[in-house]
Amino acid sequence: MPKAIDETGNRYGKLTVIKRAYPKGHRSGAYWLCECECGGRVIVQGGNLRAGNTTSCGCKGAPTTVWGKLKAEKQV
Ligand SMILES: [Zn+2]
Repeated sequence: MPKAIDETGNRYGKLTVIKRAYPKGHRSGAYWLCECECGGRVIVQGGNLRAGNTTSCGCKGAPTTVWGKLKAEKQV
């Protein structure tokens, strides 16, 4: 079993990884509890984070997108 990459503190889109998660019934791979810029929390598989498949809690397209973009530009 490959060792999980520590994603704590990493940012993927609107998500910031908070900690490792162990959802019930998960089969393989590492799961991570992430906090979205909108304040929502979601558990995402590590592979989906790194592949860019999941970059928000599902609020993508909501008005908060504009706010998130502004924040991202400010950080640069
Ligand atoms: Zn969100």
